[in-house]
Amino acid sequence: MISGKMLQMTKNGSAIRAMFEEGARLAALYGRENVFDFSLGNPNIPSPERVRSEIIRIASETDPMELHGYMSNSGYPQVRARVAASLNRRFGTDYGEGNIIMTVGAAGGLNVLLKTLLDPGDEVLAFAPYFLEYGNYVSNFDGVLKAVPAAPGSFQPDQEALRAAITPRTKAVIINNPNNPTGVVYTGESIRAVAGVLEEAQRRLGAPIYLISDEPYRELVYDGAEVPWLPNYYRNTLVGYSWSKSLSLPGERIGYVVIPSECDDAQLIFDAAVIANRILGFVNAPSLQQRLAAECLEESTDIAAYDKNRRALYEGLTDCGFECVYPSGAFYLWVKTPGEDGEFTDRAKAHNILVVPGRSFACPGYVRIAYCVSHDMIMRSLPAFRSLAEEYGLKK
Ligand code: PLP
Repeated sequence: MISGKMLQMTKNGSAIRAMFEEGARLAALYGRENVFDFSLGNPNIPSPERVRSEIIRIASETDPMELHGYMSNSGYPQVRARVAASLNRRFGTDYGEGNIIMTVGAAGGLNVLLKTLLDPGDEVLAFAPYFLEYGNYVSNFDGVLKAVPAAPGSFQPDQEALRAAITPRTKAVIINNPNNPTGVVYTGESIRAVAGVLEEAQRRLGAPIYLISDEPYRELVYDGAEVPWLPNYYRNTLVGYSWSKSLSLPGERIGYVVIPSECDDAQLIFDAAVIANRILGFVNAPSLQQRLAAECLEESTDIAAYDKNRRALYEGLTDCGFECVYPSGAFYLWVKTPGEDGEFTDRAKAHNILVVPGRSFACPGYVRIAYCVSHDMIMRSLPAFRSLAEEYGLKK
């Protein structure tokens, strides 16, 4: 028999993955062009041309023994130094290779940090709505994830709710900016308020509370929105990044974590995180992808297509009478459901629209629409959204 914990996970499944499977089933029944699958955050913008050309160059020019061999479990020193230099240029910091560990995407980085920090029963807070995998990552190390509701309406972090959720067992707070699923970019003011609450709690409890900043959408922002660099606001911040979304490379599994020297126990955290990277079975981040990332630090995908989708979907849905949060980042639209979100998701499915219910992000009453899809699909889906709105009696 498998472990009780995994048995539970097989029962819970993943709502997003289930929706993805449902999309394939509906496409077989009705034709792919008649199914509007907004369930998965899989970037549909191609990687920059430089990414392709560098993969070919690195693979053909680098000594294969060196390219494909093991290296330090933290990653190639010269890659980590270049990542640090790039962060220093952008955020006025003073990092070196000793502050960076290359990871298997943001998911790998989060698991490494949580393994490093958590004892069984330790609590981790996350502002809801949040990326649903956080619960699994925290439970991997027998921690307890607690949702902290974001401020209603704005979906910015709520400092009072955070204050109320902190207990002597609180070890870390995960914050995701720009946010999946709301598309909201947390402002410097919000982050300052979070930092104030955490500083006060650390003093009161006499123990560090680490802020884990999960930032795979950092470069995906619109209308000039700025994403604050959290270590500049709160000393005990650890950052997790990946190129999954910014370079459209989710399958390649490459990212990094930053452990600033200012953090309490920084060297201990770094040393333990390197061991965690090894013993979780990652060993090291993929070697070719590390080299690639170092060559493409200043590259980004052209997000004009996401921006066009964002505007079309926001305008199209608000026009039908839906209440949507105006997204400033990532590639998700967060829509208030006129009824219960599970029922709404089912009724949307009857119109061949696939979305993810808010309860999957610890925030019922909403659905997430991933708009990293073709513009054509968005335009074709609008009449179906209109029919759905009419079914609920919405009108402007
Ligand atoms: N964190 C958030 C908020 C995400 O949305 C995702 C992926 O969708 C991840 C982490 C995992 O990213 P990666 O593919 O880099 O592991």
